[in-house]
Amino acid sequence: MTKKKLNIYLAEPRGFCAGVARAIQIVEKAIEKYGKPIYVRHEIVHNKFVVDSLRDKGAVFVDELDEIKDKSRPVIFSAHGVAKSVKEEAIAKGFEFIDAVCPLVKKVHKQAIKFDKDNIKTILIGKKNHVEVIGTKGQIDRDNIKIVKDAKDVELLDKSNEEMAYICQTTLSVDEIDETVRALKNKFTNLIEPKASDVCYATTNRQRAVKKIAKLSDLLIVIGSQNSSNSKKLREVAEKNGCSKAILIDDVSFLDFDEIDDSINNIGITAGASADEVVVQKLLDELKKRFDISVETVTEIKEDMIFTLPKELED
Ligand code: SF4
Repeated sequence: MTKKKLNIYLAEPRGFCAGVARAIQIVEKAIEKYGKPIYVRHEIVHNKFVVDSLRDKGAVFVDELDEIKDKSRPVIFSAHGVAKSVKEEAIAKGFEFIDAVCPLVKKVHKQAIKFDKDNIKTILIGKKNHVEVIGTKGQIDRDNIKIVKDAKDVELLDKSNEEMAYICQTTLSVDEIDETVRALKNKFTNLIEPKASDVCYATTNRQRAVKKIAKLSDLLIVIGSQNSSNSKKLREVAEKNGCSKAILIDDVSFLDFDEIDDSINNIGITAGASADEVVVQKLLDELKKRFDISVETVTEIKEDMIFTLPKELED
């Protein structure tokens, strides 16, 4: 039987960012150096495939430090960053810990601390319950940071001439942030902006690349986990930029091949910053078995960012 023809557009860049690659390497190196088990507070990155494979290598994931009975074992804090109180708790309980916070999240922490020291109230644009936002808000002791999700939330704030600063979660949609910042500027005449955007290079580049393939695709597949903020944003960006159907799946086992009917001739593929390229390649392999595919890579930019490891794990 002749196979149906499919054009595949692969977004570049896609998948692992430098912060995620570093966080995974931290867990692997810690297992090499200290042996098993190594405890990790919270999923090291929001990706089921990554978490499962690290678990197989000897990582034990916990939600809170209380769950760790053997206090002689090291604990790693995730790439999303933790509140100051979590580190204080670890020290008080005698844990050795390694902080895998992404340097770009750390940069936002430093801004929050500086604004607080300068007595400037701060708006944090982000999702209230996201671990990164909890960690950023938790960098300062007093209640000096207000969280807003979007421009609608900003409408609920009182106008003020008081000096006010804003910072952002690193994995939001670039376009949505612009809208929220415009709303903030209308509300606060003395608004202090971050020197450079807090939305990180990886989020920005992946969203720009997905915009390029969205227009070409009848269906756009984002590889990533449902709890990954940057992966969810890629799906939303695709739908807002010309693709009528975009789906977010952990891996190919979640793809319903019956959905690829006569109306689908062009498929876009990308992957969130915490998704492994292996999973993308498995998807391509399965598509190849069923369809006559031609693959074109659509490049927004070539990335070469690398973050160094914490001193205790350097070779
Ligand atoms: S998405 Fe951005 S902020 Fe988050 S880990 Fe990757 S590089 Fe760091």
